[in-house]
Amino acid sequence: MSEQHEGEVLAVPKVRTDPGREAIKAILADPEGTVIGLDFDGTIAPIVPDPERAHVDPAAVAALSRLGALVKAVVVITGRPVRTAVRLGGFRDHDGLRQMTVLGQYGVERWDAADDRFSGQPEPPEIAEVEAALPDLLAQLGLSGARTEHKGRAIGVHTRELPDPGGAFTELLPALSELATAHGLRLEPGKYVLEIRAAGSDKGDALRDFASEVKARQIIFIGDDLGDLPAFDAVRDLRDQGTPGLLICSASDEQDALADHADLIATGPSGVAAWLTELADALDQQG
Ligand SMILES: [Mg+2]
Repeated sequence: MSEQHEGEVLAVPKVRTDPGREAIKAILADPEGTVIGLDFDGTIAPIVPDPERAHVDPAAVAALSRLGALVKAVVVITGRPVRTAVRLGGFRDHDGLRQMTVLGQYGVERWDAADDRFSGQPEPPEIAEVEAALPDLLAQLGLSGARTEHKGRAIGVHTRELPDPGGAFTELLPALSELATAHGLRLEPGKYVLEIRAAGSDKGDALRDFASEVKARQIIFIGDDLGDLPAFDAVRDLRDQGTPGLLICSASDEQDALADHADLIATGPSGVAAWLTELADALDQQG
C-alpha cells in the first residue's frame, strides 16, 4: 500500500490512536498473520429484547466470510453457550467461515467450523479430588444426606432436602470453604446450595490462549460491554510485548465503558459491519 493511501484506507470510522494506526499498518502488510476477535451480542448481533432472536447483522457475516479467507483466523468470543452462538450466528452456512472458531461461556466451550466440532474445556482434576473427598467430610458432619451435584467444572452440595437446611448450610460453609481453598477452587454459596467451582475463564484468557495457539502476529478485538474489558486488556498486554493490536468499541447508548480504551469507535453492529467490509475491501484492493 502506498503512503498516500494509508490515510484514506479504513478512514471511516477513524483510528484515533498511534497504537491503532500502527496496528492497521501491520494488519494491511500481513493479513495472513492477523486474528480478528469479536464479541457476539451488541458487536455483530444487535441487542434485542428476546436474546433468542439476536441474529448477526448479515453485512457482518458477509464481511467476515470475505475476511475469513484473507486473515489467519476469525474467532467469536462470547459469554453465551457456544451452541447458541453458532446457531444464532448462522456461521455454519458460509464457505468463507470454514476456519472460524467460536469460544462460548467466556472460553470454556469451543466450536471449530473446520470440523464442525463442539468441545468443552476438560474438567479440572481438582473437581474430581473434591468429589472424592466429599463423602467422608459429609459423614463426619452427620450430613451424608446432602445431595451432591456434579456439574463438570463445579460441584454443588445441596442442603434443601435435609431436615434442617439452614443449619446444615451454616455448618457446611466453613468446611467446604476450607476444602475448596485446599484444592485451589472457590466456594460460591447459593440458595441452600454451596458450589465449589473452578475459576472461570474470561475473554482475556480466551483471546490470549487462542492468539498463542494460532501464533497471531496482529490482533483485532471488537467488543461492546464490560465483559469485553479483559480481552481489551489482553490485547494491550500483547501490544506491550510487541504484537500490534487494534481495539474497536461497538458503541451504544446503553454502554460506553469500552470507548475510552478503544482505538476506534464504531456505531453499533452496523458500524462494526461497515468497518469489517471496509477492511475486506482494503485487503482485496491490495490483492
Ligand atoms: Mg456484547
